[in-house]
Amino acid sequence: MKKCMYCKKELNEKYLENKIGLFCSEEHYTKYLDSLSNEEYIAIQNNFCVCSDD
Ligand SMILES: [Zn+2]
Repeated sequence: MKKCMYCKKELNEKYLENKIGLFCSEEHYTKYLDSLSNEEYIAIQNNFCVCSDD
């Protein structure tokens, strides 16, 4: 079952998918990034090649 990385709720049809993961909305994607420490954020950046400005 797909769940939002931020709120852990089940996703509806209009979920957001990107290289970080799945989120129920753009807002939760932003909040998820905000909730990360700098170290965690850098780790994510390293896991996914951020070659383009996505
Ligand atoms: Zn969510």
